[in-house]
Amino acid sequence: MSYVDDVLAMVVAKNPAQPEFHQAVKEVLESLRVVIEENEEEYRKNALLERLVTPERVIMFRVPWVDDKGQVQVNNGFRVQFNSAIGPYKGGLRFHPSVNLGIIKFLGFEQTFKNSLTSLPIGGGKGGSDFDPKGKSDREVMAFCQSFMTELCKHIGADTDVPAGDIGVGGREIGFLFGQYKRIRNLYEGVLTGKGLTYGGSLARTEATGYGLLYLTQELLKCNGKDIKGQTIAVSGAGNVAIYAIQKAQQLGAKPVTCSDSTGWIYDPEGIDTALLKEIKEVKRARLTEYAAQRPSAQYHEGKGVWTVKCDVALPCATQNELGLEDAKSLKENGCFAVVEGANMPTTLEATEYLQKNGILFCPGKASNAGGVATSALEMSQNSERLSWTFEEVDNRLKTIMVNIFHNLDDASKKYGMEGNYVAGANIAGFLKVAEAMKAQGIV
Ligand code: NDP
Repeated sequence: MSYVDDVLAMVVAKNPAQPEFHQAVKEVLESLRVVIEENEEEYRKNALLERLVTPERVIMFRVPWVDDKGQVQVNNGFRVQFNSAIGPYKGGLRFHPSVNLGIIKFLGFEQTFKNSLTSLPIGGGKGGSDFDPKGKSDREVMAFCQSFMTELCKHIGADTDVPAGDIGVGGREIGFLFGQYKRIRNLYEGVLTGKGLTYGGSLARTEATGYGLLYLTQELLKCNGKDIKGQTIAVSGAGNVAIYAIQKAQQLGAKPVTCSDSTGWIYDPEGIDTALLKEIKEVKRARLTEYAAQRPSAQYHEGKGVWTVKCDVALPCATQNELGLEDAKSLKENGCFAVVEGANMPTTLEATEYLQKNGILFCPGKASNAGGVATSALEMSQNSERLSWTFEEVDNRLKTIMVNIFHNLDDASKKYGMEGNYVAGANIAGFLKVAEAMKAQGIV
């Protein structure tokens, strides 16, 4: 068996019942075959792939907290410090009932390549809990966050590991987590990103992932002879990434016509009203039925369905494996010519293959949603300098980073004879830098 096949088999055998982690490793290693084969003996002798797929450290802990009825609740807490070859671990915290070790490992593994692609000095990590902030009072969320950080603070620090937000972790949660870190460690340092503007946060961090997704999409389209202006866009999700993707798409002259949450989806042929969506999701934390109730042009549908509408570009911005083979076929039939991932691994392997075989431009999340972590790294720089940059300065840097990321993957795909295969391009470009740094640092 080839070295790649040996390692893939090892990952499945050693990490049972972690299908998302298997899927992420398979997607990356399959597209690295051509690079590995060039130097197979050396990589094998140094067990480079085995080290790449094995986290440097996995921290799992109990998170006890008391709910509003006085009942003690217990959740699982995780932090996976995956790879620090190119910088301190960096990656978000996810609070969602679906969280388990396999999901955090898949996200931490992906994060290593994503962070490498940003060209900034940040390693890969991810964490979270099966705690569900939905329906909890602010006091309950605070109690949970304080208990979570009481344990996590032993393992993180501004030069060690810098977590950020992800699904279920927004400004409110980051504030509670930061407050508890400071209280226990007696350190006012940039240990978390996505902080509020009054205590070390960066302008444009909230918008960064969605805006960055659109900057990359704009460049992808431009390099393929199209203009983002005038395109109809289907977006899934109605959280941080989706909201700011919708807003930037409109600013660039495109028309986003859908959004969704875990109960249903909206089709608004006149274009999503961003201000209304923000009010409902960011302020009221309500369901999308409320959007339809206030917007005559909008139709609300229960369940899944955003990929069934007519569109030119699709931006999946909700969660992993939300776009399957049937969705991919439906997008093709409806005239979609580009799928650019805002979420992490929202497209299944079969759907990705179908899109690529059918001539649809496809960009993986580890490249196209890297604007969030890139701006987090800019927040770390500002914290180290004890300075705050203007919105325009951060936004301009973000734009430059996203355009560069696209050209990095485009160049890598061309160099290895796979022009237009941006999945391979992203994996190869991300891998080469990490592998080089790992080789230079010896067997650690
Ligand atoms: P949010 O929690 O702000 O929003 C997530 C959205 O997706 C919500 O509308 C949520 O609906 C929906 N959703 C979540 N899980 C499911 C599910 N199982 N089925 C259907 N809908 C679901 O998260 P973000 O916007 O921050 O993150 C979205 C994706 O982007 C994730 O994959 C995340 O890892 C990725 N990402 C985020 C970054 C960031 O900076 N925030 C950076 C890079 C990647 P509901 O509210 O009903 O649960």
